[in-house]
Amino acid sequence: MIMVSSFVYVFMYLIFSFPFMGQDLNLCGTDFVMQKYINQYRPDYVKPIIPINNARLNSQDNSSTKIIPIVFHIIHNGHTIGEEENISVEQIEDAMRLINEDFNAINPDLDNVVSEFMNSVGDADIEFRLAKLDPEGNCTDGITRTFSEMTNEANDCVKNVISWDDTKYINIWVVEDIDAEIGAAAYTYLPGTLWDNEIEGIIANHEYIGSIGTSSNTPYKRHTLSHEIGHFFNLSHTWGYGSNGDEANCGNDDNVSDTPNTIGAYSTCNLSQETCGSLDNIQNFMDYSSCTCMFTSGQVNRMQSCLNSSVSYRNNLWSNNNLWETGTHPDYSNDTCDPNVDFFISSPNRICALSSIQFIDNTPILSSSAEYAWSFEGAEPSFSSDKNPVVTYSEPGQYDVILSVTTDSGTNNITKTYTVYNSSMNLSESFENTAFPFNPDPSLCWSIKSPESETSWARTPISSTSTTGSVRIRSRFFDCYQKHYLYTPNLDLTNFGLGVGEPLKIWFDLAYGKRNNETDDELVVSYSKDCGKTWQVRASWDTDELITTIGNNVGNNFMPNNSEWEEKSVNIQAAADQNDVIIRFEFSGDRGSYLYIDNVRLTGEWINIGDSDMLKEPYIVNTVDLLGRETSNSKLKIEIYNDGSVNKVYKIN
Ligand SMILES: [Zn+2]
Repeated sequence: MIMVSSFVYVFMYLIFSFPFMGQDLNLCGTDFVMQKYINQYRPDYVKPIIPINNARLNSQDNSSTKIIPIVFHIIHNGHTIGEEENISVEQIEDAMRLINEDFNAINPDLDNVVSEFMNSVGDADIEFRLAKLDPEGNCTDGITRTFSEMTNEANDCVKNVISWDDTKYINIWVVEDIDAEIGAAAYTYLPGTLWDNEIEGIIANHEYIGSIGTSSNTPYKRHTLSHEIGHFFNLSHTWGYGSNGDEANCGNDDNVSDTPNTIGAYSTCNLSQETCGSLDNIQNFMDYSSCTCMFTSGQVNRMQSCLNSSVSYRNNLWSNNNLWETGTHPDYSNDTCDPNVDFFISSPNRICALSSIQFIDNTPILSSSAEYAWSFEGAEPSFSSDKNPVVTYSEPGQYDVILSVTTDSGTNNITKTYTVYNSSMNLSESFENTAFPFNPDPSLCWSIKSPESETSWARTPISSTSTTGSVRIRSRFFDCYQKHYLYTPNLDLTNFGLGVGEPLKIWFDLAYGKRNNETDDELVVSYSKDCGKTWQVRASWDTDELITTIGNNVGNNFMPNNSEWEEKSVNIQAAADQNDVIIRFEFSGDRGSYLYIDNVRLTGEWINIGDSDMLKEPYIVNTVDLLGRETSNSKLKIEIYNDGSVNKVYKIN
């Protein structure tokens, strides 16, 4: 039992008292996610102390503007660039312009500040720059674009899709929308909240990035990013922690002396609002009003103190070394920057002989034009200048693929080697081969695709039979329900009939026990008839449907005994008579113990096509005379057929 401190109790209370019901999205989910994270992972959390100094007098470097490198990770769901969540470069540049205005107190709407707060306006003197070098030292425009379904209902899981070293860059993930549980336009974490191994940054709905494109030029939208960066630099909301609009907020403080206590505003702009006995600074970026336009000097000091602190490595962001490493140093030039060439083929990274395959360019292009030159050893065509060419290999084997890309600033190339696989005529895998998923016979190779950070499908000596070996996976330490795929070899199933006899089925032995009552696992079986280009789901089992044990939960290290295996079958008749079939086991889950699979095999109506062809059209294997001689002058000859039948022929010369 964890000791519940009064501190945790306060956070629990705040979680269950969030009252937002506006037509606009709640501006910010920062307090919500921080409370949730602390409750779940840091019950003993104590807010780190960042000493507030007068940054103007005491900072490490108060002589010049602090430059901060930024990268935008656009997580898109397939729209072309400039549409929906896959926002344009112009929209990102507009967002950069706006935050640079806001953090240098040159935003035009500062003119609207009421007289009572004019003398409080703070100039943070911070300049944000898009990164020009990525973490590997390659040229970049500071924008990445990655296809992922995680852009919908996004939460911290998008950080698994792509993230750069958060001690060097501010990561900003742009998404379609944010998890309804958080229900916000954007959110981040104050420094020191997350454990060190968690990636920090800002997650934002694309409609709240900049003032053009999919966003709009309302104060609410054009200053959202400045609000979140304020949090990232250790600013609280003007009403302190917790729920906006709550009268109890008059007893909370944001630890900034020149922002009067307030309960906060929401989507309104009452410039004479007084909620805690004095005029509220509702125009503050850290409020939710519809007319935010300023930071105060006290907030600027707090942000500068944060940037001078090692808490969450904020003091590294603007260090001289880091500006060089990220290409944001004023003296850095990337005039000659060879393209960082890359390409891929679709999952499961498999090429089948005689089946077309598309190669997809993945080179970030920083200039307006690019020329592509592909070379395909052993394929047809063997050269292409298309961006994403389609080719076909006729023979199994190992082949090099070379892509050369030329842009205004240089030429570069990359070579990758692919194996073109022969198809196997049947499937019978008992996982005895210790080199699994590899096999000395390339037509029997399996493959695995999984998140790098999680232990995936692996062979184990435990078996469902007297032989050794099965394959297993465990979700105990998994995160975000990422999918773990296990693929069979490519299969030529043309010998399986079209449904006259028994339907084609895949069979396997399964053993699974539930670890505890929080276990939440799923197994899905699909097949592809086109070498992995498209997939059809044929069966799925959730946690309770998977269980093959009797009685209690099984704990951390489930090892099945003989009676704890069950046979499962999945009808895949629609894959019969096809020659580029791959079958896929897909596992995802959370807090589970081991799932085992063994003896994967096929059953169905086997029609031996080679033999039946011969039966249809028997052919002559020998011609002899009545004495059995192959060469003679006899006019009567006997033709002997492959099936044993004979035919008498009179030959008249
Ligand atoms: Zn906020």
